[in-house]
Amino acid sequence: MHSQTELYETHSNQVANSSTSPNNISLLLENISSLEQRIEELHFHRQSNERSRNVEKYNRSSFRSRSRSRKRYNPKAESKLAVSSAADELNNCREFNYRLFVFDKKTGIKFLVDSGADVSLIPASCGDKVIGDFKLYAANGTEIPCFGHKILTLDLGLHRDFQWPFIIAKVNKGILGADFLNRFNLLIDIKNKKLIDGVTKLSIIGEITSSADELNVSTLNKNDKFSDILAQYPEITKPDLLISKTKHNVEHYITTDDKQISNEELKELLNDSKNLNFKQYPLPSGKIIWSDISTSNIRPFIPQPFRMNVFHKIHDLNHSGIKSSVKQIASRFIWKNIKRDVKEWAKTCINCQKNKIIRHTQSKFNSFEEPDERFSIIHIDIIGPYPPSNGNKYCLTCIDRFTCWMELIPIGNITSETITKAFYAYWICRFGVPYTVITDRGNQFRSELFRSLGIICGIKMQTTTSYHPQSNGKNERQH
Ligand SMILES: [Zn+2]
Repeated sequence: MHSQTELYETHSNQVANSSTSPNNISLLLENISSLEQRIEELHFHRQSNERSRNVEKYNRSSFRSRSRSRKRYNPKAESKLAVSSAADELNNCREFNYRLFVFDKKTGIKFLVDSGADVSLIPASCGDKVIGDFKLYAANGTEIPCFGHKILTLDLGLHRDFQWPFIIAKVNKGILGADFLNRFNLLIDIKNKKLIDGVTKLSIIGEITSSADELNVSTLNKNDKFSDILAQYPEITKPDLLISKTKHNVEHYITTDDKQISNEELKELLNDSKNLNFKQYPLPSGKIIWSDISTSNIRPFIPQPFRMNVFHKIHDLNHSGIKSSVKQIASRFIWKNIKRDVKEWAKTCINCQKNKIIRHTQSKFNSFEEPDERFSIIHIDIIGPYPPSNGNKYCLTCIDRFTCWMELIPIGNITSETITKAFYAYWICRFGVPYTVITDRGNQFRSELFRSLGIICGIKMQTTTSYHPQSNGKNERQH
């Protein structure tokens, strides 16, 4: 009985319990759900902590958490978990701005990599004075005091130097702005805490800090009423730290490397240049180049090894003259004794010498040696044809230079045989052998027979030069 009553009692208890069941169950369910929520909260709190400590670890842990959640049977709870995890993540991002910091080994400055900043900045030191060259504004429109600009060469550990003009401003940390990242093709990988070099594919691991403060340096005052219009033309507000590119078809590239910087001549020019105004300009490669801006053209200083190259680039366009080459090159480039060098190179240009008539050489007339004895130099020539006299139509004229004694020997024809015979019989036999006989370029005088006479008698046979009968003037003047 007892057991029965007990049973009954328990049963009645159960019944009694069951009679109050709707309230109890709802309470229980409420408790369970609140507990579940609490567990989730704790779980994600731990996750977010882990994430702020290490992004990579966070990723792994989130993977683990997902796999753990899959073990649960309740699909509803899982979907609820996923939704709340995404929402939580979003909240995390809103609460903390994950910022990547990199360290420069050369200057020791810690730089915030900020693609939202228009320009790159370095913090000002106490001694800097305000220079009103540029104007920078924070996100709320307040002006950030600037102290001019400085060209720095950063060593971020990416195996290449980054030379870039930085604006010195009143900020508490250095900023690598969008201009810097764009110029050197650097990519930010917040997830892996990396700054990736898009050119070399190398990367450095930076430092991730969650900072709530936003700087967002801009060259544009967003409170300004024209800010919308100005935003369309960033060239207007951006500081002119780089040479603005003028549009033209001809582009000259000079790879100067670092040779310009360590150049003694440049130092000399910088020290004693009264009329020159040297300024540093960055090259497309990121390196800087010293240029003179005292004239209307910006004239870069050219180190010794590149000068000849520069000369040929300009001079070889049309092989202009010395004066023009000097003018063209000296107006575009600068180095010590530029005019002297260009003059020398233009003068010695092989192509110019081969193709240009720059010197009209006039050689001196050959001087006739004056004879000092009679019948030593004889001029001979042929005249005719004339009306025949005893069958002779021609005359062989012989004249002695010293005495001007003239003989006219009538001949029937002008074959070399006749002439040689006549000259021998009528001159040599009567006046002796002359030292020299001067003739024109007639075939008879250049014949083998006539020349043989000269060889036999020991006479120097001389002919006049082509188209220049004046050489035989003594004779030609007579007829
Ligand atoms: Zn030339």
